[in-house]
Amino acid sequence: MAYDRNNVFAKILRGEIPCKKVFEDDWALAFHDINPQAPVHVLVVPKGEYVSLDDFTANASEAEIAGFFRAVGQVARELGVTGPGYRALSNVGHDGQQEVPHLHFHIFAGRRLGRMVARAE
Ligand code: 5GP
Repeated sequence: MAYDRNNVFAKILRGEIPCKKVFEDDWALAFHDINPQAPVHVLVVPKGEYVSLDDFTANASEAEIAGFFRAVGQVARELGVTGPGYRALSNVGHDGQQEVPHLHFHIFAGRRLGRMVARAE
């Protein structure tokens, strides 16, 4: 899948759409989800143009990969959720029900989150 530069996270990264930022460094931007599914629901996105986890890990540089995953962990630490726990999740593609085609990790926390995925419909 080709990267779409008009996706909403690309616009947020370019500053064309506002976000409630919680963290930023050279490799990643983190901000609150507009429609939170838990008391803490933060999105962490890499600065580079990658559609998904498999695109990123196939095509990003070692520095981008290290920088991004360090940022995901740092965001969790800075949110103060590492003690009680949290969930980091990345949806991919149609079956993963990915809505925004720019790689992102959701960080959910602040309550018991339930087990894994919903049962098949
Ligand atoms: P996905 O389904 O792609 O894994 O998740 C996309 C997430 O992006 C959803 O949780 C949705 O609420 C969030 N989202 C969509 N548009 C915006 C936006 O303009 N700003 C923010 N902060 N979050 C957004």
